[in-house]
Amino acid sequence: FQSKLPNSTASIFSVMTALAVKHQAINLSQGFPDYAVDPQLTDLISKYLQQGFNQYAPMAGMPALREQISAKFKRVHDLDIHADSEITVTAGATQALFTVMSAVIHAGDEVIVFEPAYDSYAVTIELLGGKVVPIRLTAPDYRIDWQEVASKVNARTRLIIVNNPNNPTGKVLSADDVAQLAQVIQNSNALLLSDEVYEHLVYDGIAPQTVLSHPLLRERAFVVASFGKLLHATGWKIGYCVAAPQLMAEFRKVHQYNVFSVHTPTQLAIAEYLEDAEHYLNLPTFFQQKRDYLVEALQHSRFEVAQSQGTYFLNLNYRAISDKPEQEFAVELIEKHGIATIPIAAFYHDGHNQQYLRLCFAKKQETLEQAVQVLQQI
Ligand code: PMP
Ligand code: GLN
Repeated sequence: FQSKLPNSTASIFSVMTALAVKHQAINLSQGFPDYAVDPQLTDLISKYLQQGFNQYAPMAGMPALREQISAKFKRVHDLDIHADSEITVTAGATQALFTVMSAVIHAGDEVIVFEPAYDSYAVTIELLGGKVVPIRLTAPDYRIDWQEVASKVNARTRLIIVNNPNNPTGKVLSADDVAQLAQVIQNSNALLLSDEVYEHLVYDGIAPQTVLSHPLLRERAFVVASFGKLLHATGWKIGYCVAAPQLMAEFRKVHQYNVFSVHTPTQLAIAEYLEDAEHYLNLPTFFQQKRDYLVEALQHSRFEVAQSQGTYFLNLNYRAISDKPEQEFAVELIEKHGIATIPIAAFYHDGHNQQYLRLCFAKKQETLEQAVQVLQQI
């Protein structure tokens, strides 16, 4: 048997979390909250379970949830997204990403991926027989050279993937970036896959944004989102994909056969919970307070803190402490100091090392304080 993914190993998130558990370290590596979800939400799931909503949901998702997603687009972006023809509920963002790529990538197609990149993109492209065309962005600005992007687009370019706000950099695309992206798409046959799982986690007064606000991208983009981030419940694996009707029809041809539908009572619970928009409009305040605490506290350390405009990640440069490469330093931090982080190098296909580590700040104040105490002593 010949492996279809001969080079694929355990993800950096699994590796670092396993090491954190082994060494009983404070786990700021894999991105997940360490506090409880809102009991109102778990009560709603119980309610729908007990009411007997335990059979298949419609393939595209429960209508009540698709209506709420549509209402959220109206409220936040003043966009009219049709619940029946333009939204599909998925088993997390990962399945939505996989399904978009499966629906559009033919063997031999090229896909442009900006690095540092979330780990699932390249593996999925490879599995589908596509070719990853990486564009390397570098710390601390991770600026995109749009001329370079344009120069990498050709007749075989099927898809461009963006992740905004970006995991792991915490960067948000500027209005100029979006305009330039639209220009590149317009001059090509490519579609856009915009991973917007951190859409609502934006700080310093930055408004949530979606590429669907751009008229051209509204026609050519798939947008992917995750309730794992929105509801502090990464284990529920419910997300959604939004695209214009013709694109969504192609998406559903695949979705129908790789999952068909996702957990019914949780969809109903989320739909009811989203009726109160405060539940997601509060997210920037909630997370910015955590980010600001860490940024301030780490001014009193030897780490250099990079700016985080969005996501629940903060990057630290450790050049003043060690000249070890990221992976090695990250393991040392776990083994010697009991703090687990993620090396940014893991988001580059060639392991590009810049002496940065990613910390997840979706943690209770107590956890952040414990981490700060350790990090200030290093
Ligand atoms: N995209 C990005 C950029 C992510 O960070 C994550 C998860 N943290 C996902 C997709 C996957 O989301 P989900 O857990 O809903 O599958
Ligand atoms: N997206 C999460 C992160 O960036 C990890 C998800 C996973 O473990 N696959 O930390």
